[in-house]
Amino acid sequence: MRNHAGWGEIEGALGPAERETLSALLEVALGVRPAYNAPVPLSEIQMPQSRLGRLPAALERIAARDPFSRALHSYGRSFPELVRARAGNFSDAVDAVLYPSDETEVAEVLDFAARASAAVVPFGGGSSVVGGIGPLPHHDHALVLSLDTGRLDTVAEVDPLSQTARLGAGLLGPALEGSLRPHGFTLRHFPQSFEFSSLGGWIATRSGGHFAVGTTHIEDFVSGLTLVSPAGELKTRPLPASGAGPSLERMLAGSEGTFGVITEAVMKVAARPAYRASESVAFPSMETALGALAELVRSRLNPANCRVLDEAESLRSGLGANVRMLVAFESPNVPVDALLSVALDLLSAHGGRREAGEGRGERSEAADKWRSSFIRAPYYADAIIGMGLVVETFETSVSYAGFPALDQATRAAIARVERARGAHGFVSCRVTHAYSDGLAPYYTVIASPGVAEPLSFWAELKEAVTTAFVENGGAVTHHHGVGRYHRSAFEQSVGDQGRAALGALRRHFDPKGLMNPGVLLG
Ligand SMILES: Cc1cc2nc3c(=O)[nH]c(=O)nc-3n(C[C@H](O)[C@H](O)[C@H](O)COP(=O)(O)OP(=O)(O)OC[C@H]3O[C@@H](n4cnc5c(N)ncnc54)[C@H](O)[C@@H]3O)c2cc1C
Repeated sequence: MRNHAGWGEIEGALGPAERETLSALLEVALGVRPAYNAPVPLSEIQMPQSRLGRLPAALERIAARDPFSRALHSYGRSFPELVRARAGNFSDAVDAVLYPSDETEVAEVLDFAARASAAVVPFGGGSSVVGGIGPLPHHDHALVLSLDTGRLDTVAEVDPLSQTARLGAGLLGPALEGSLRPHGFTLRHFPQSFEFSSLGGWIATRSGGHFAVGTTHIEDFVSGLTLVSPAGELKTRPLPASGAGPSLERMLAGSEGTFGVITEAVMKVAARPAYRASESVAFPSMETALGALAELVRSRLNPANCRVLDEAESLRSGLGANVRMLVAFESPNVPVDALLSVALDLLSAHGGRREAGEGRGERSEAADKWRSSFIRAPYYADAIIGMGLVVETFETSVSYAGFPALDQATRAAIARVERARGAHGFVSCRVTHAYSDGLAPYYTVIASPGVAEPLSFWAELKEAVTTAFVENGGAVTHHHGVGRYHRSAFEQSVGDQGRAALGALRRHFDPKGLMNPGVLLG
C-alpha cells in the first residue's frame, strides 16, 4: 500500500531496529541523538469536506473522494510536503481524484474543470520534489482536482525494426520496463524514483536517469508526443529526426502540467544489455577525479556510467571514506571488458587506483553496495524527517571550469545558514551526470535545525543554495524540474522575452489558467 505521508510503500519503511542504528549514526555525525516520531495515521487526519458535488455520470465513474486517495494526491515528496503530511496537515487537500483511461476522458475532465472553474493538477507518480504537485490553497480555487494518469497505461505498439514503443504516459517505471522486457527492449531510463514515477511525469519534468553519461535526459528518447490541453489535442508525428522548425516535442517536455496532460509518447527503446563490467576507482582528491572524469567522457570509450562520489558521499553509502568513481560499461552484443581495461588505464594516469578487494566481473561489489543504498535512500530520508531533522538534496549543472567556485560557494552558503541557526549539518556531494563540457553536482544535506523550526530552516537553505548555484554559473535545476520552489529563479534565468514567450504558449493551451497554477511561471 502506498504511503500517503512518505516514500513508496508502507512496507518499505524502516523498522525500529534500522531506525535505532540510523539514530546512532546520526549522533556521531551531528552530535545529537534524534528520537523518532511516527506520522499521524490517516484515520486521525482532519480533512475538509470535498467541495465536489455530483459529477456527470461518465466522470463520476472515474472519480474518488475517499481520504486515502485525496491524501496521497495532495502532496509531492519534497521535504516541506513530507513534514506537513507527517503532521497530518491536509487543510488544502485536493477535492477529488479523477482517473481517466484515454484521451476522450482526459478531455472530458478538462471540459468539466473549465465549466466549474476547477484547478487541475496532473499526477503521475507524485514524486515531485519541487512543489509541482501541491498543495493549492483552497481559498484560491473553487475546486482542486487531481488528474491521476495511472490508467493511461497501455502499450499500444512496439516496433522491433525501428526500436520504438508507443507507451501510455501513466506507466510507472517497473510496469513500463516490464512491458518492454518480453520484446528484449529497455527504455534505459532509471531515475532514483523509478518505482513510483511515470513516463508522463518524466517528460513533463525533463527527468534525468541514473546513467551519468550519454543519453540520459528523457526528452532525448522522445520520438512523438500526445498532449490533451484545454485548447484541444496536439499529436506530434513520431520521426527519427526532423529539421522542420522548432521542435514541438521539446516544447512540451518540461511543461510540468501547465500546458495540459501528456497522454502518450512514442519512445526510442534499446536492446537490453547482455554484457556488463564495472569497477570502483579511488582518487586522492575530487579535483583529480573530475579531471579523469572529463577525459573519460570525451574519450569516445562511451562508458555506460561514471559516477564520482566525494568522501562524505562514499561514507554515507557504506563504501569507506575515499573520493571514488564508479565506472561501468555495457553492451547488448559485444563484451566490454577490454573497454573497461582501457578506461582503467586512463583513470590510473590521473591518479585513480582500482580498489583493493574489488573482484572484476559483471558488477563490482562497490557498485552493488552503491545501488542498494541508492534505492533505500528515500526510505531513510523519511525516517530522518521523522527524527525532526532536515534532509534535502540540491542539484545543478555547471562547466568543469566553473565547478570549483560553485562548489565552494554552495558549501559556504550551507555553512552560513547553519551557523546563523546554531545548526549542525552533514554535506555530501556526488556527480550525477557528466558531459564533455561540464557536470551535474548533487548535494545532500542532513542537519539538525538548531534553534530554527525545520520548515523555515529548509526555506533558508533552499534560497541560499539556489542563489549560490545561479550566481556561480549553475543551472536552476539539472533534472528535478522547476515546480513552485524554483519558479522565481527560473523566471529570472529565462529573462523577459523567455518569460513572455512561455506565458503566451501557456495562455494558448490553457486560456483560463486551470492547469497546475503557480507551477513554472507566476
Ligand atoms: C526519492 C526521489 C528520487 C528522485 N530521483 C530522481 C532522479 O533520479 N532523476 C530525476 O530526474 N528526478 C528524480 N526525482 C524527482 C521526480 O521523481 C521526477 O521529477 C519525476 O520525473 C516525476 O515523475 P512523476 O510521475 O512522479 O511526476 P509527478 O510528481 O506526478 O508530477 C511532476 C510534475 O509533472 C506534472 N505531470 C505529471 N504527469 C504529467 C503528465 N502526464 N502530463 C503533464 N504533466 C504531468 C505534474 O503536474 C507535476 O507538475 C526524485 C524524487 C524523489 C522523491
